[in-house]
Amino acid sequence: MDFALAPEDEAFRDELRAWLDVHLPPFLEAESLGDDASLSGEASQRRRQAWQRKLNEGGWAAIHWGPEYGGRTINAMQRLIYSEVMAEYRTPGLFNTNGIWQIGPMIIAWGTEEQKAQWLPSILEAEEHWCQGFSEPDAGNDLANLRTTAVRDGDDYVVNGSKIWISSAHLATWGLFLLRTDPTAIERGKKHEGITAFVLNLHTPGIEVRPIRDMAGEELFNEIFFTDARIPASWRLGDEGAGWMVAMGTLGYERVGIASQISILSADLRAMVEAARSVNPTALDDPSLRDRIAKVWTEIELARLLSLRALSKIMKGEKNWPEVPFAKLSWSSLAQTLAELAVDLLGPAGLLARGGPDSVDRGKWTRLYAFQRYSTIGGGSTEIQKNIIADRAIKMPGQSRTS
Ligand SMILES: Cc1cc2nc3c(=O)[nH]c(=O)nc-3n(C[C@H](O)[C@H](O)[C@H](O)COP(=O)(O)OP(=O)(O)OC[C@H]3O[C@@H](n4cnc5c(N)ncnc54)[C@H](O)[C@@H]3O)c2cc1C
Repeated sequence: MDFALAPEDEAFRDELRAWLDVHLPPFLEAESLGDDASLSGEASQRRRQAWQRKLNEGGWAAIHWGPEYGGRTINAMQRLIYSEVMAEYRTPGLFNTNGIWQIGPMIIAWGTEEQKAQWLPSILEAEEHWCQGFSEPDAGNDLANLRTTAVRDGDDYVVNGSKIWISSAHLATWGLFLLRTDPTAIERGKKHEGITAFVLNLHTPGIEVRPIRDMAGEELFNEIFFTDARIPASWRLGDEGAGWMVAMGTLGYERVGIASQISILSADLRAMVEAARSVNPTALDDPSLRDRIAKVWTEIELARLLSLRALSKIMKGEKNWPEVPFAKLSWSSLAQTLAELAVDLLGPAGLLARGGPDSVDRGKWTRLYAFQRYSTIGGGSTEIQKNIIADRAIKMPGQSRTS
């Protein structure tokens, strides 16, 4: 791979940096900082909403949507550059992360013109919050086993069943859901068939959202119960039975997003060393901690090179494994190693939780320590990535592990 940026990629990076130089400092000064350590807190959400709107004013909110939908025309390298520059500038998060990165592209790919006109502005302009409702109690990694049904009744569908682990559903008005329109498909041994994608308004009668408190003390994800919820057929995205293809597109975007998360790790490493300099400076003289910093820095660099190799294959139209599952594996374990290092580097102050007056960076690192357990579960768990590598890269004998 040629590591030099192409002139158009360099121009893209410089344009983004120049825009951030002008717009980010006044935004941070004008906006109350909000409680960004809590993703679901009201202040944090208001701040994310304001930041996404600011980005959208500059055409930087949904860069991969194409100019006709308020985005730009970008290549895969520019997608990565975007994440790296945002991490370098430590910008606030987006209000509609799922909506911008995953759901919007699916509506663009599968929606009718009316659906695009109805839903895309709501995502882009941060008018309403959006969530992604795929997982069920018996359908996580084995997503095709989902059993929440949508049964056609005249111009409507009637929905029954439940979803679980749906991030930010308690804040959302809309969500992209996968529902089973043909319950016989599982009995017929064709579980990938008979699944249909719908965009649902969560305020519909018969839909109840119940937050789940996680181990970091936050209510970030939710259970959703459907009891004879009646939804119009006009909320169906794509054809009946085409839901698996919609899901694969959505998860494909999620995985590219995970690879680009590696750039956030190096920004986090720099920030935690900086924080240690002020709250626990002696830690930086400890040889074992210095070793750990050097080791994790090297591993982040290796993970970055791995993700560049995956990207290079994607850009050449080649199959992107084993690099993509490897990049997911290395990002997820590094994210956990880094969160553990933060707590050790920051000493006693690093253990103070959010809300405490002496907590470091408003408790961000303590929260990360608990939250990063997620990284080996979400977006395809560690065991599943290893199965993919065993089947497709090493071609280990035996029954397929990835059907
Ligand atoms: C913080 C967080 C946010 C989330 N947000 C969302 C969201 O917004 N929307 C949404 O739809 N979902 C969301 N999820 C759910 C997530 O997608 C699932 O947790 C994930 O798909 C795993 O499914 P599961 O929890 O049912 O575990 P399971 O699939 O039941 O797996 C349990 C364990 O068994 C292992 N295992 C399973 N199958 C195999 C196999 N074939 N071979 C070897 N080992 C196996 C797994 O690796 C894991 O260790 C979120 C999860 C988390 C933690």
